[in-house]
Amino acid sequence: MNTERCPNMNHSRSNAPVKYCPTCGEVVNKAVPQRGCTEEKHAARRKGQDRYCVDCGKTLR
Ligand SMILES: [Zn+2]
Ligand SMILES: [Zn+2]
Repeated sequence: MNTERCPNMNHSRSNAPVKYCPTCGEVVNKAVPQRGCTEEKHAARRKGQDRYCVDCGKTLR
């Protein structure tokens, strides 16, 4: 387990706009429904800073 505090701002929000944290992959908002993702979407995310998909929680790299 990661003992360091995740720096992603979504954790401190009470109403995060995404289901999963893009930095650590943990669920930040259970109320957001799970979304199906395309490989295209994941490929685009891989080019960004995200390590995890915010919609399905999958590891991007
Ligand atoms: Zn996190
Ligand atoms: Zn995804």
